Amino acid sequence: MTGTLYIVATPIGNLGDFSLRGQQTLAEVDLIVAEDTRHSRHLLNHFGINKPLLSMHEHNELGRVDSLVERMLSGDSIAQISDAGTPLISDPGYLLARGAREAGIQVTVVPGPSAPIVALALSGLPASHFSFEGFLPSRSGPREQLLRDLLGETRTMIFFESPRRVVDSLRSMERIFGPSREVSVARELTKLHESVHTAPLGELLRWIEEEQNRQRGEFVLVVKGADEESQEEELVEAYRIVELLARDLAPRRAAAVAAEITGVRKNLLYRSLLE
Ligand code: SAM
Repeated sequence: MTGTLYIVATPIGNLGDFSLRGQQTLAEVDLIVAEDTRHSRHLLNHFGINKPLLSMHEHNELGRVDSLVERMLSGDSIAQISDAGTPLISDPGYLLARGAREAGIQVTVVPGPSAPIVALALSGLPASHFSFEGFLPSRSGPREQLLRDLLGETRTMIFFESPRRVVDSLRSMERIFGPSREVSVARELTKLHESVHTAPLGELLRWIEEEQNRQRGEFVLVVKGADEESQEEELVEAYRIVELLARDLAPRRAAAVAAEITGVRKNLLYRSLLE
């Protein structure tokens, strides 16, 4: 009999959110694989669970996969947890889950909290279609390039951000999306000082800059998607600009410059010129 890989979600703040099935699973497996074993030991102690822990983080995950898969093939069951929330979601676990699946090992999830979903549900923004973008790049150049690429995204967008960069990222968003785009800042979710503030970017920046405490803790930023109508207007304007530029520049160059100015994808502008 081969073992099973359990991907187990743990609380993102409030320990009361740890599911009964999550606790039972950790108490029954042969080994718990955790991101930071000292951090997870606290959680296990709180729930009276005493099981061997092995560290697996982004720097050693690849090297661990084969031996963990071997262990499961020889009958051991393993639970994978991360520091908080659902493993794999901007956390380690993907390589192990894939390795286990490829080896024919049964993989199952014990679901539970995940910060992006909690933030989305609290944001007051459309929640049926969304795009999870993970952490924003820390340098402003790549960050603003990524945001420019997302200018036409009509689905709600979800980003992780650190307290050190939350204001800079909101400023980048204001530069690219404009001051009237609605954004929700979700902080310290499920914890004592949980707060969620949703407002147009210009207003939101004034609000967060007003008080240092509003910049502390863990953050998720939820951004309303572009509305279809304004997206159409932006496209019409971008086509006008690329055509003007193409009077003096080669089509590829005109498309590249127009993409820089408008944030519309270069290929789309290039194709519009050819057509
Ligand atoms: N896998 C985790 C999950 O499912 O929630 C996310 C892991 S990611 C490495 C950690 C980031 O999630 C933090 O930097 C923060 O952006 C966000 N986060 C985690 N817990 C949070 C909380 N309680 N409140 C707000 N954001 C949180």
